[in-house]
Amino acid sequence: MREQEQQRDDHDPASDPEEGAEEARDQADDEEPHRRILRAVEDALARLSEDPARGAVLLDVDGTLAPIVARPELAAVPEETRAELRRLVGRYALVACVSGRTGEDAARLVGVEGITYVGVHGLELAPEAERWREALRPFAAVDWPWLEDKGLTVALHWREAEDDEAARSVLKAVATRAEGAGLEAHWGRKVLELRPPVEADKGTAVGALLEERRIQRALYAGDDTTDLDAFRGLDGLEIAVRIAVASAEAPPGLREAADLVVASPAELLDVLRRL
Ligand SMILES: [Mg+2]
Repeated sequence: MREQEQQRDDHDPASDPEEGAEEARDQADDEEPHRRILRAVEDALARLSEDPARGAVLLDVDGTLAPIVARPELAAVPEETRAELRRLVGRYALVACVSGRTGEDAARLVGVEGITYVGVHGLELAPEAERWREALRPFAAVDWPWLEDKGLTVALHWREAEDDEAARSVLKAVATRAEGAGLEAHWGRKVLELRPPVEADKGTAVGALLEERRIQRALYAGDDTTDLDAFRGLDGLEIAVRIAVASAEAPPGLREAADLVVASPAELLDVLRRL
């Protein structure tokens, strides 16, 4: 990442010398705080890695470890990423995957033993979510080609729909019915998710995982709206590194909330290799 910054710095801003000088001054003004932030992140990563027995590595799965694909069942974690995760499991006090999938499905997809898998956006760690399982059943039976029943949530995807607007309007009606049944409707990256009205998210899950183990140093990486909650779960720690895996579909605010932005799961892997 540093190398990329350097290349941008070296780029000749304009052919007109006067205009170029002015732009260079503007860039220097803009980039000085940015460099300071990068240095602070480098420092935090180094401190985390120096004492792994006191640190946690927390990761979203889809779009973070596994590149986004059209159908979630086709997602895969590259073998080189698995190898890196195995190394981290041997080093850190905690390596956890906090996913929108069920914990069982996340474990199958990542396929690395020793990782703590928390599913359904942290709901699996919330005991009061269980009694809503029945209320979700009718929505698991909705006639929709890309329905994902996760027990404690029902997700209706429309990435593959031919008519984006038509799909959206059908799902809006489903969302209204679900809200009438006391459930909550959440909109993500080409997905509507119905869930219990329970105060549990990736942030409460991350908080619980760290508190239980009295861990004060952690990194979290994610690519979606729910990962913003996880970022907040790191607030107040001694060392916190929030990494956004950017994409064209990244939700507003993700980059801004992050300490570090990487361009892809492959670039995140480069960061993990330094831990
Ligand atoms: Mg994700």
